[in-house]
Amino acid sequence: MICVGVALIIATAYIFANLRDRQQLIRQSVREDAMWAVFQTHREASRLVDAILVSKIDPSDEAFKKVNLSFDLVYSRISLLDGGFFTEKFNESAELQLDAQSLQFNIREMATKFDALQKKPSSFAESIEILLEDARSIQSQSNEMVVSTNEKLGRARVNDRATSSRYYEQLAQLVAAMAAVFIGTIALQFLQLRFISQTQRQLRDLSAENSESAKAAQAASKAKSMFLATMSHEIRTPLNGIIGAVDLLNQTNLSEEQARRALTIRRCGHALLDVINDILDFSNLDAKGFVCQLARVALPKMADILSDIFQNRVADAGLTFEINVPSIRVVTDDVRVRQILLNLVGNAIKFTPHGTINLDISLLDRDVLRVEVKDSGIGIPREDQSKLFQDFSQIENSASRRFGGSGLGLAISKRIVTGLGGTIGVESDTGKGSTFWFEIPVSSVEVYVAPPPKLHSDKAKENTNYDIHVLLVEDQLINREIAKALFESFGVTVTTAENGEIALQRLKSTTYDLVVMDLQMPIMDGVTATQMARTRGYSALIVGLTANAFPEDRKLCIDAGMDEFVAKPVTRDKISSVLEQFFSTTPVTEKTDLLDLGQLSPAHRRRRPTRLLRKCPSTPLQILLHPPP
Ligand code: ADP
Repeated sequence: MICVGVALIIATAYIFANLRDRQQLIRQSVREDAMWAVFQTHREASRLVDAILVSKIDPSDEAFKKVNLSFDLVYSRISLLDGGFFTEKFNESAELQLDAQSLQFNIREMATKFDALQKKPSSFAESIEILLEDARSIQSQSNEMVVSTNEKLGRARVNDRATSSRYYEQLAQLVAAMAAVFIGTIALQFLQLRFISQTQRQLRDLSAENSESAKAAQAASKAKSMFLATMSHEIRTPLNGIIGAVDLLNQTNLSEEQARRALTIRRCGHALLDVINDILDFSNLDAKGFVCQLARVALPKMADILSDIFQNRVADAGLTFEINVPSIRVVTDDVRVRQILLNLVGNAIKFTPHGTINLDISLLDRDVLRVEVKDSGIGIPREDQSKLFQDFSQIENSASRRFGGSGLGLAISKRIVTGLGGTIGVESDTGKGSTFWFEIPVSSVEVYVAPPPKLHSDKAKENTNYDIHVLLVEDQLINREIAKALFESFGVTVTTAENGEIALQRLKSTTYDLVVMDLQMPIMDGVTATQMARTRGYSALIVGLTANAFPEDRKLCIDAGMDEFVAKPVTRDKISSVLEQFFSTTPVTEKTDLLDLGQLSPAHRRRRPTRLLRKCPSTPLQILLHPPP
């Protein structure tokens, strides 16, 4: 484009210069014509003078004719000496114009004399002197005009040359300016190209750096996950020991003070476990994002579980816990919903010195579940409300300090609600209480009818004895001893094994009713041992023991062929649930008492009989937990 532009400009300049030259030539030739006319007039006038001088010696008719002819030639030039013509061609000279007019006048004057001589040729001899004088006057006048025209012509040429060179100069300046503009444009484009290629190079470098950073971040995140998994195992294992030992301690005859202290140890152990779970869950959500696992959940059953979980804490705090829940079943991620509720209700109990906690669940627009947890507690100052739902954020007050916590519960809840496609929020007034709410989409809403009440009481369940033989595979001595003692407290016969390899040997010689298999063990881990046992055709129950709370660990258990898994720490309640689930003589009805808050395996779900009653009237369920009088 630039080259074409340059070529066009050069061509224009060339044509312009040519045109100017041609114009110049035309003007020049016209001027030279005028000059030629004056010169011819002068030449004819000189010839006239010569003819008159000849006739002066011999004034014959012949001589008169020659003089007459010569004058005719002079006269014929009169039109060439037109003043306008001169003005036009030498427009700068009024002097020349006057000279031309005067010359014309004199020629015409002389013509009248010749006209008179035509009528009377005899008087020619007398008129010769007058004619000679007139002719000489015309000769000298035309001569002067030749000189002055020549001079004007020369001056005009000089002017033309000056004008031309001025034009050329201007043209050269213009071309130079345009060339400069072009060079500037080319330079700018060059700079721009350089800038673009530099930017591209920088972008390439940056993206290379970014991918390096991404790799480093991935490695860091992997390292973090591994670190957390290890730490979780390392922390949960002794915690398992502490909580299990306290459970066993509670089975013995304790004095009131000893029981109180044992309770404190138990509560502290569970609080520590909550913090570990929060941190693990948070980092897991952070590293892997939210994975939704949908299941059909009966809301009244979920409410039952919550009221079971919180009944002791509510009673201890002297609070009333009211649950309003519609008798419906919906499809949602029940484990995650329960996790949010545990956090919101747990917070409400923590931050309510006295009064009531309300859990209201309702269905909006058939496919949106609204859950409200309302308390009459200390409330949250308006200016602090924006800090809620942020990672590791706690409101600075004595209650938060007193109860501790990771400051992650609400952040995790928000991530879960967002992952489920819903919204979460809070309305609160200092001193009046808070309402934490969330709304999530649900599907397949059905009416749910609660099953008949259970025939046996919890107390009875706790004291049931099971005549079964369990193989307990656990490498940690303390955990092994505690789990063994806990199983034995239900009348179970327990054989132990320190690792998967020993367990496989035991399985060769004895058939057990249940194998409880730890996952992480030296020599051979629980997953490999289970896989090998299943490949060898071992079909009895295997329950995994996992210290890790990551979903992939649980999936690993199920994929390896385990029937169930229990998250550590192993408590008497969890063992009781496992035993009741697989070995209870009472018929299994609707039961959702998950081993570790929703860690229900697909196999387990399959075994559960499900009752689905449609088109039944929906009666809202109310659960009231009042403080003991
Ligand atoms: P934590 O595990 O520390 O309780 P959360 O994220 O669950 O972390 O809560 C963050 C903070 O929000 C708490 O420390 C507390 O200050 C405030 N908060 C949460 N729920 C309530 C409530 N119901 N009433 C008053 N303050 C609350």
